[in-house]
Amino acid sequence: MCKNMPPLELAIQFHGHICPGLLMGVRAAEFALEKLAVDPDVDEELVAVVETDSCGVDAIQSILGCTFGKGNLIFKDFGKNVYTIGSREKNRAIRIAQRYGVKFSPDWPRYKALADLKSPSQEELREKESILGAMFEKVMTMPFEELFKWEEVAFEMPGKAQIVETVQCQKCGEGVMKTRTVTSGDGIICLSCAASEVA
Ligand SMILES: [Zn+2]
Ligand SMILES: [Zn+2]
Repeated sequence: MCKNMPPLELAIQFHGHICPGLLMGVRAAEFALEKLAVDPDVDEELVAVVETDSCGVDAIQSILGCTFGKGNLIFKDFGKNVYTIGSREKNRAIRIAQRYGVKFSPDWPRYKALADLKSPSQEELREKESILGAMFEKVMTMPFEELFKWEEVAFEMPGKAQIVETVQCQKCGEGVMKTRTVTSGDGIICLSCAASEVA
């Protein structure tokens, strides 16, 4: 990860496109860094519990360094734009929840209609860009408290990710984490083989 890139740039590069959900995640991530007075994660100093798997989570991953691969991004499939960020060093955590019904742009339906046009005119393209620009400006400059509510929470930091022994599946011969195996008539097998046995 390129540390000297501004957070917004990091998030856009990681996510691939710019959208309101991503920008909301950028606001939440920057707020967490500031409130907890921490730097982005290097080696699991931070943990993020996210209650959604939508766009904003990519800002949490790219800006805070809490990532799926490092194991310090914990996903709870609750369908809520809620992020709990904890710091091991500070022994503190904050819970950030997007307010219900936040409106950034009354022009969003118009934007979508313009985006769906097969061959938009120059005029329509300009209109689309200007709606988008105004909305991004709004998300990035609205007072944080209007977008989110937040509070300090007691938070049990999970243990750091463990390295688990890899064993060989007795059916397909591929390596598999020992904690993700089952015992069958063939011996110790992986879950993909176990799933195909049932099918
Ligand atoms: Zn997105
Ligand atoms: Zn297998």
